[in-house]
This record gives sequence, structure tokens and C-alpha cells, in this order.
Amino acid sequence: MAFCQVIVDIAHEDVDRVFTYRVPEGMTLCPGMRVHVPFGRMKRVEGVVVEMAEACDLPPERVRDVADTLEDYPAVLPQLLTLAVKIRQNAFCTLAQALRLMFPAQMRGERIHDKKREYAVLLADRGISQQLLAAQARAPKRAQVLEALFASESGEIAVDELRAKLGECRQPLQALCKMGFVQLLERETLRKPYGAMERLAQQDPQLTRQQEDVLATLLPAVEAGKGAFLLYGVTGSGKTEVFIRAVRRCAQLGRTAIVLVPEIALTPQMVMWFRSRFGEDAAVLHSRLSPGERYDEWRRIRRGDVRVVIGARSAIFAPLEHVGLIIIDEEHEQTYLSDSVPRYDAREVAAWRCESEGAVLLLASATPSMRSFAMAGRGDLKLLEMPRRVGNRPMPQVHVVDMREELKAGNRSVFSGALLTGLHRCLQEGHQAILFVNRRGYSTFVSCRNCGYVVTCTQCDISMTYHSHEEVLRCHYCGEERPVPRVCPECGSPYIKYFGVGTQRVEEEVRKFFPDVPLLRMDNDTTRGKDAHANMLARFRAGEARVLIGTQMIAKGLDFPNVTMVGIVAADAMLKLPDYRSAERTFQLLTQVAGRAGRSTAPGEVFLQTYDPDNYAIVAASRQDYRAFYEEEMHRRRRALYPPYTLIARLLYEAEQEKEAQRAAEAGYRQMEAFFERRAYLRKYVIALRVMACPVKRIRAKSRWQVTLKIVDQPICREAVGKMSEIAQAPMDHGLCVCQVNPSSMM
Ligand code: ADP
Ligand code: ZN
Ligand code: ZN
Repeated sequence: MAFCQVIVDIAHEDVDRVFTYRVPEGMTLCPGMRVHVPFGRMKRVEGVVVEMAEACDLPPERVRDVADTLEDYPAVLPQLLTLAVKIRQNAFCTLAQALRLMFPAQMRGERIHDKKREYAVLLADRGISQQLLAAQARAPKRAQVLEALFASESGEIAVDELRAKLGECRQPLQALCKMGFVQLLERETLRKPYGAMERLAQQDPQLTRQQEDVLATLLPAVEAGKGAFLLYGVTGSGKTEVFIRAVRRCAQLGRTAIVLVPEIALTPQMVMWFRSRFGEDAAVLHSRLSPGERYDEWRRIRRGDVRVVIGARSAIFAPLEHVGLIIIDEEHEQTYLSDSVPRYDAREVAAWRCESEGAVLLLASATPSMRSFAMAGRGDLKLLEMPRRVGNRPMPQVHVVDMREELKAGNRSVFSGALLTGLHRCLQEGHQAILFVNRRGYSTFVSCRNCGYVVTCTQCDISMTYHSHEEVLRCHYCGEERPVPRVCPECGSPYIKYFGVGTQRVEEEVRKFFPDVPLLRMDNDTTRGKDAHANMLARFRAGEARVLIGTQMIAKGLDFPNVTMVGIVAADAMLKLPDYRSAERTFQLLTQVAGRAGRSTAPGEVFLQTYDPDNYAIVAASRQDYRAFYEEEMHRRRRALYPPYTLIARLLYEAEQEKEAQRAAEAGYRQMEAFFERRAYLRKYVIALRVMACPVKRIRAKSRWQVTLKIVDQPICREAVGKMSEIAQAPMDHGLCVCQVNPSSMM
């Protein structure tokens, strides 16, 4: 008799353990396979087999049979089972939740099916059939079908394609089948993202000296299947070429690779690079794919049809076997942290995966995260450096423009004189320009110049954003819309105007100064569709537009050789956010944006407009001096006891009634106090434990309170975070509680 241990797909702590089932006669099972099992009073619940067993201690009448299997192969590879267990320990979630990361959501509840396509396949020999064909003059459609099949290279055509070409052809096809000329068969097809993308086969460039040096360290590690690296290479130093060579070596050794990019916008470019050098072998995984595409890519990977997977955060769970290398490009990006349950850091998961599967980890960035650079300092990551651009191209020249001076000189435009002159020069020389608008922070709110009143959302405690196109104010948290007031509701003054800049405003101004120059604007409003990102970038690359105006989404990673000028319209918008990482983010963003300029033969020029030109993040970014920034920032973090020296965790309570949120938060606070009371050995690490209303007191008509914990970042202290997670999981009467660790926003 065979038994198996199953994790049922119910994310509740009470059932966060294995349950034993009998394997019925004739069913073949192995760990990782998905099954239907009866559970409690439910007839069929999905589950994952985690272990097989020969015997079972339970009395036979208490053990039920596995109902059936969902697939005839293990959906979860053994190494990903191990990874799920590790994630459960560290993310404080149930194993069922961790396992859900391992296959596309659409596979749960059988919401997706293989896509079948019908094909007509030519069976007859050309000579014979042509004679027959002549004899069939009475049946012209039949002849057409045969003709089309002869004309096709492979002797087969999908029926829907035939139909598109010739009109309805079911009857002639059936006749041809009867005559034995043609066979109809159904075949599975795989939907493929970016399928139609150009595929220029490309030659290898001669490596630069720096690339050679880095690869001289990296490739032996790939061969040995061991090592963790941080590649710190300035923008335009040619990091991608290093990735390509390392992945190729990996493939030569019969192993596979995962390449993570921080934004979906960057996948097409990376895919293009890899396809042009690897042929068809790269698969893509990210959340903008249609459910069908996602499922098909996952299957292609699972079947072992691909050697390279390129994708966003969740691609770290790609069901690849024989992984030899995991690359995380732009490793400093926040997008590698998942905020929803189970919360994980893709960089950390990558490190676990590499260690357990004998693979090399390569983190790369022009502006490494504090955390990774500190790890390199301690020797936990080996530092590889590329301090110069390819071909010794100069770093772009950065002009810092003090916007306070502009105002004093009577310039009320969003552009400084210097930026306009630079843009003019760039366009005259036939190059392209990027204008970057930071949308986070105090972008475009409406305020009264007389009394300072700011229009805020009634549901959320946050200023509303002005959309000039539709002439409305919109809340970016809940979507509420309101007309723009003509006079100040507070003081009646007519001097109530929008303040700050948005992409639309910048677009209007460029049109005013350069009426004939074709523009593209990329922001959340213009990139809604599935391929909108990729299409717009392709159009800019093709030179359809001379100026690209955009937000964060155009800041990083993109390589446009003809761009020689970058304008940063308001550099310090993000500096003002109440977040200990605002300086780091500002520095990273500015350096990355500036790095888009002058990546090819013509040198680049950057205009950085700011109201705070002496700020250390702005100064370091304008000099593209990562180390200077790192030293200063680490110094400040140590002084203020911020990560990576400490760990910040918070319990965020939301409820309709402010009293509810407060009451629950205070109860949570007392639980934490009692916890530290019982654990004297942790107390010395605690820097602060507080309860208070959140900086943004209301969002979507919910009041918000928080319990914050600041504690020294030691492995032992994770226990305290575990306790907070536990508190968050307990159901709350009239509200919601979540636990966040080093949250990406403390608002
Ligand atoms: P990074 O990611 O470091 O900012 P990229 O990998 O995008 O830089 O490379 C910058 C540019 O240099 C790209 O256009 C790339 O094609 C080119 N490049 C990279 N390596 C070489 C090389 N060895 N020879 C010539 N051009 C190169
Ligand atoms: Zn007013
Ligand atoms: Zn709102």
C-alpha cells in the first residue's frame, strides 16, 4: 500500500501541515504532483504531494484516497519544494501560500487549458495528387486547399489559417481526408509573448578590457557552480554583454539561467538581446502576459524547452532544472521586494536557490543597494567592478540648475534657460532627448497662493493630482475625481493654481517651444494596454519621436544610442518623502536617468533642475559618484539607526472608524510589549517600539494606525518579526491588519 503526504491549497494556519492520503491502485504519484483530495466535508480540494510513504500510522478507516491528479507530471520541482519550505520559514506564511508561488495562478481551480489548434497535414505525394487535382476541376475549393498545402514548406497548415485565406473549407477538407490526401489533427500550440519581434542575428562584439577581466573571475565560478557576486558597473559599461557571455557559458555546460529585470518595460529589450544571440531559447515570465501566455511559457520552461528565462520578480520561481546562473539586473530596485503575502525578497530567494542548486548568483547595478554594497564590504558578495563606459565614452556631463535662481530671474516655465538651450542644441544636431518627470512626491497638486490651502481627497488624507487634459483633480490612491475649484474654498481667493509638474504639463511646454518636433509621452495614462510599453519604446528607438517624456518607467536600463540629452525636470520631488530611503532612491534614480545620455558615439549632456542643489544625494548624482554617496548615506544610517543596521517592521491597521484602528493598534502594541517581556535576550536589540497614527491618516476612507518596531538586524531578531506576523494574521473585528518588514513606503 502506498501513501502520500499532501499540503492542501487552503491558506489557513490551522491546516498548515501535511495530511496523509492513500494512493489508489493504478495511480502513479511523486512529490510535487498536484492532486485533488477530499478534505473535511469538501469532496475535492487541490493539493500538492510533498512526500511519498510506504506505511502509515493512522487507522485505515481514517485515511482517505487521493481523488485524482491534475497533471501527469510534478508541477512543483523537488528543488522548488525545498524553496517553498525555506520561504515559509522566512516569510512567516503557510506552506500552501508559499507553494502558490511555484506555478501560474491560473492553474489553480483549473481556470486554464491547453490551447489546441487543428492542422491539415498533406499525406499525398505531389505528382499523383496533381494528376488527380486536374481531374477534380469540378471541385475548385478542394483544389485550392491542396494547392495551399503544396505551397507550404512543411506540408501542413493550421485550419484557421486556411479558413482566413480561402473562406470556409470544412467540406473540401473532409472530402480530401476521405480520399486519403489529407489528415486533420489537433495539436497543442503554445502562445508566445513577443513572438513577432524582429530577430536580428548578431555578431559578438569584441569584449572590452573590463568585461574580459570581470568574465575571467565569473566564468570559472560558473564552471564550478559556486559563488555570489555583485557587479558594480557604471551606466553604459556593458553589463548586458557580461550577462550574455556568462549565460552562454552556462548553456555550454548544459545548464540553464534566470535573468531578472526590475520592470516589465525592460523585458522586451532584454529578450531582444538574448534572442538575437541565442535564437529561440529565451522564455519570458511576468504579470503583464495574458493568462494563456503565462501558462504556456511556464509549460515550455517546465518541459525543458528553454535554457534562459527572462522576467520580473516572480520569474525567480521559474520551473527550470539544472540552474547554473541567476542574474539580477538593477538589483537595487524596490520591485524585487514583494509586498503581498508571502512577502519575499527576490534577491534573497535567488541566493537560497543558488546555494541549494549549485548555481552562481550575479547581482548587477550602476547604483547598488546599500544592503548589497555592504555585503560586498563584508565579503558575503564578491565585488566585480566596471568603472568606465564601453569604448571609454565619457560619462555624461551633468549641469545642476538651481531653480530658485530661475524664479528670481522671472522664469516661470518648467524649463530652465539652460535646459532649453541644451534641448535645442540636441535636436538641431539630429539627436534624441529624454525628459524625465518624477511623479512621486509633490507632483501636481492644486494649492492656494494666498492662504496655502491644498485640495485633498475626501477619502484619503492626500493631495489630489491635477490632470490638465481632462481638467480634473484625481486622487491617485482611490481614483476619486473632482472639478478644479475656481476660488479657494478656504479664503475665496482666485489665486488657486496647480503647482509642480506632471508629464502632461511638460508635454504642453515642449510643444509650445518646439511645435514641429514629434513627441512621445510615457506614463501610467499612456501605457495601459498589454504591449503599450514595448510599442512606445520601439517607436522611440525607430526614431519616430525626437523627444521622449516619461516617468520612472523610462528611467532605467533602457539603451537608446541616439539619445544625447537628458533633462531632469524636478530632481528633488522624491527627496521630500517621509521615507528613510528617499535619499538613496533619489540618488539611484538621478544616476540611472542621467545614464541614459550619451551611450553611443556622441557625448551626453544632462540638465538636472533642483530647488536643493546642495543636497548630498543631488551632488553625488551630478558627479555620478556612487562611493561618495554610499559613504555619506551609510554614515547617516548608522547615526539614525536605519537599515541595513536595523530592521524596521510595522503592523499597519486600517478600519472605517479611527477608534477601531487605534484600539486594535494599541492591543497589538501591548502584545508586542508582553512578547519582549518574556524574551529578555531580545530586549537589548530593541531600539524602539511605538504605536501611533500613520503619517497618512486616511486612505480610501479607512483610518490608519501603526505599531512600529525598530530592532538591530540580527538573525535572532527575526523572531520578533515572526511574532508581528502572527499578530497580523489573527482576524480583526472591523478592519484589517498587515505586517510589513522594511516597507517600501512608510506613508
Ligand atoms: P549597462 O547595462 O552597463 O548600462 P549596456 O549593457 O546597455 O550597459 O551597454 C551599453 C552599450 O554598449 C550598448 O549599446 C551595448 O550594445 C554596447 N556594448 C557593450 N559591450 C560592448 C563591446 N564589448 N563592444 C562594443 N559595444 C558594446
Ligand atoms: Zn485660500
Ligand atoms: Zn482618495
